[in-house]
Amino acid sequence: MRKGLAVSPGVAVGTAFCIHEIFVQPDKKRLADSEVTAELARYETARDKTAHDLRALQIKLEAQVSRESAAIFAVHESILRDGAFTNKIRGWIVDERLTATAALQKLLTEYTLIFERTADDYLKERLNDVRDVVVRLSTHMSDVLKPGSTALPGPLIVVAGELLPSQVVALGEIDVRGIVTQAGGPTSHAAIIARSRGIPAVSGVPDILQHVTTGDRIVVDGRNGVVLVNPDPEQLRAYLKLEREFVDLKDHLAENRDNPAVTADGHRLHLRANINGVADTKAAAAMGAEGVGLYRTEYLFLTHPDVPDEDEQYTNYCEIIAASPQHLVTIRTLDIGGDKTVPYLGHNIRESNPFMGWRSIRLSFEHPELLLTQLRAILRAGAEAKRLEGRVQLLFPMITTVDEIRLVRRMVSKACKQLRNDGKTFARVPIGVMVEVPAAAIAIDAMLEEVDFVSIGSNDLVQYLMAADRDNPKVSHLCQPLAPAVIRVLTRVIHHCRKARKPVTLCGEMAGQPRAFVLLVGMGLLNFSMSPALLPTIKDLASHFTVQQARDILRHVLTLKTTDEVKTYMADQLHKIAPSLAILDTV
Ligand code: PEP
Ligand code: MG
Repeated sequence: MRKGLAVSPGVAVGTAFCIHEIFVQPDKKRLADSEVTAELARYETARDKTAHDLRALQIKLEAQVSRESAAIFAVHESILRDGAFTNKIRGWIVDERLTATAALQKLLTEYTLIFERTADDYLKERLNDVRDVVVRLSTHMSDVLKPGSTALPGPLIVVAGELLPSQVVALGEIDVRGIVTQAGGPTSHAAIIARSRGIPAVSGVPDILQHVTTGDRIVVDGRNGVVLVNPDPEQLRAYLKLEREFVDLKDHLAENRDNPAVTADGHRLHLRANINGVADTKAAAAMGAEGVGLYRTEYLFLTHPDVPDEDEQYTNYCEIIAASPQHLVTIRTLDIGGDKTVPYLGHNIRESNPFMGWRSIRLSFEHPELLLTQLRAILRAGAEAKRLEGRVQLLFPMITTVDEIRLVRRMVSKACKQLRNDGKTFARVPIGVMVEVPAAAIAIDAMLEEVDFVSIGSNDLVQYLMAADRDNPKVSHLCQPLAPAVIRVLTRVIHHCRKARKPVTLCGEMAGQPRAFVLLVGMGLLNFSMSPALLPTIKDLASHFTVQQARDILRHVLTLKTTDEVKTYMADQLHKIAPSLAILDTV
């Protein structure tokens, strides 16, 4: 039994599928003599395709972002064309009879060892470039994880060091029942995506890849943050029973999708969905969301082969608007940085504090053309939403000062002017900001005067308030939404928003955590946005308590001094309110 962090509730049993350093199965096959020539040709084809991609990227980025942004792909092309790089791969295929993918893995391991020994930070950074080239090459070969590519029996449990956003998107096509990762915490993107799909997940399990082999039977307990490798028959029986209960409960709760969310005393709540793409929007509709409360547009950029241009973005936003219930979509501008990086936006350079550095709106300000392109696409999509009698809202991430709000407003005016000059149809849309930096939470009264609505990003707000990285399992005991300090700050922000009569939503992961949800209702919050899979549970939970009960619970919690006291008290209250939902809570 291995312990980690419970990041997505539920229980799953399946066959382990281990993803090592790069996105291929560990390839132990040795080639027969007759296969060597074909394998060399396979590698050369992948190399040609990769070179073609890299050149296309340089051209597009130079036109759409800047010459400097494009330069990184010239570096990648030179790595790809490097004689030593290619000779090693060819040599291992011919002399050691390795497959091309195994040779790439070997090369990456070798380079990692060499680069780790150097004290030179610049050189260390180059390892990321080599890794990028290797991943790009390997995706042009056929062994990437895709439907039918594994001969493994039954539903799969993916086990990985950490999952890249593009990898998680690829997983959408396969019958994945659970996810286990060595890195990451409850708000890292792998966890967020697992929750949006309703897949049980455990993160931060040290060295799990050393203890599991592809094909092992594995249990993921996303309630208690536990992973069992090759459980004994008795454990297996018990967990299979729990898995069935979990699936039955989810099916049962999904039946309430068409009912409104109301508390036991009839207060109407609005539950919307956090989405990363069109597939999630469909899931949101199926789960009864009242629209999209947060579209993280960075996923469009992260999973795109290069940079999506204005028309591509417009088409994507329109698809999401069409699929979204009530055609209501809150579109957040690019929030790249922190744990989500793209090489063309300077992310080949390592920052010592990426979460506090050049991320999100700060990065957009330095690429005004990129931001303006996105704003134009969103404003045009706003007109489409209007045509469907829906609405687009524009949300800016990581706003820290009032000056930044004024600047984004000027950018929006500029985008409107450009569209008008180009004769394009667009709509003026409500402008809101994420409250996720403590400075914005503290100066909330000043912020409110400048915006149409706010959305509290508790994932970041908690990490910044507690000075504890949201992706670092070592400090996860601090990065807790139920910490007394966090509860005080949230209570105050929501109070100010209500006083100013400005709509306020909370779209961080705590909105979908049963214990936190009760407290948020107690604070007077009416709008929530969460992973689609969590909506039915939260809607059901809302019907089990009154607003007065929630206020009383909050009043008591505000007297408590430690996170553990709050957690224990809330677990107790939850058990009293809705005992049947305990399997869907995380510790
Ligand atoms: C947040 O910070 O709470 C949030 C919703 O945004 P993200 O998780 O994308 O940073
Ligand atoms: Mg955030």
